[in-house]
Amino acid sequence: MPMAELDRRVAGCRACPRLVEWREEVARVKRAAFRDETYWGRPVPGFGPADAGLAVVGLAPAAHGANRTGRMFTGDRSGDVLYAALHAVGLASQPTSTRIDDGLELYGTRITAPVKCAPPANKPTPAERDRCRPWLEAELALLRPTLRAVVVLGAFGWQALLPVLAAFWRVPVPRPAFGHGVRHTLAAHDGGDPLHVFGCYHVSQQNTFTGKLTPAMVEEVLATAADAAEIRHK
Ligand code: SF4
Repeated sequence: MPMAELDRRVAGCRACPRLVEWREEVARVKRAAFRDETYWGRPVPGFGPADAGLAVVGLAPAAHGANRTGRMFTGDRSGDVLYAALHAVGLASQPTSTRIDDGLELYGTRITAPVKCAPPANKPTPAERDRCRPWLEAELALLRPTLRAVVVLGAFGWQALLPVLAAFWRVPVPRPAFGHGVRHTLAAHDGGDPLHVFGCYHVSQQNTFTGKLTPAMVEEVLATAADAAEIRHK
């Protein structure tokens, strides 16, 4: 299945009743600042080329960010930090990501999440996370021929992603712990190229407003991961 077809199917999924209800209610009620906009209100597919060498993985779309705009990390403060950093290291065509039709392109990089629908309080249940797993598995299967590195944003994304990676690469037991700047190299089950997995604090306001995570820290992880994936960048 081509990536565009997978993205189309993801966007039509209604498998989690609680998340379907939440994402659609948020889209109906809206935040006052976006009252004149039509929210996406559906699952948010990954964004970026199907032959990416690097994946950036969060946890789930934000209620008034990607759930509004229909594109990962687009239209919220977390995305402001992430896309500015991607642009600073040469992985994005522009430093801002405000709308799905703003012309933004990613270079060699795809942004995705283990849970495709915005959850209440940004917390999917374990059952919702597990139900969504086949979508990310299918996405990784398509990326597998070119994917060489992953940057995982935050401990929750890390916990959700490692079991999915285990379908293709050897994940040590016990699983490696999350930390900012950690790097693990996973051998492939099929003897193919290994995958370099990097931890990065989540680009949430909680981390960026407090200075726990600075733009330079994000850029450093992204640049190191792009080097590991052998993507030409700044
Ligand atoms: S979270 Fe995943 S499995 Fe659940 S409804 Fe959304 S896309 Fe479907």
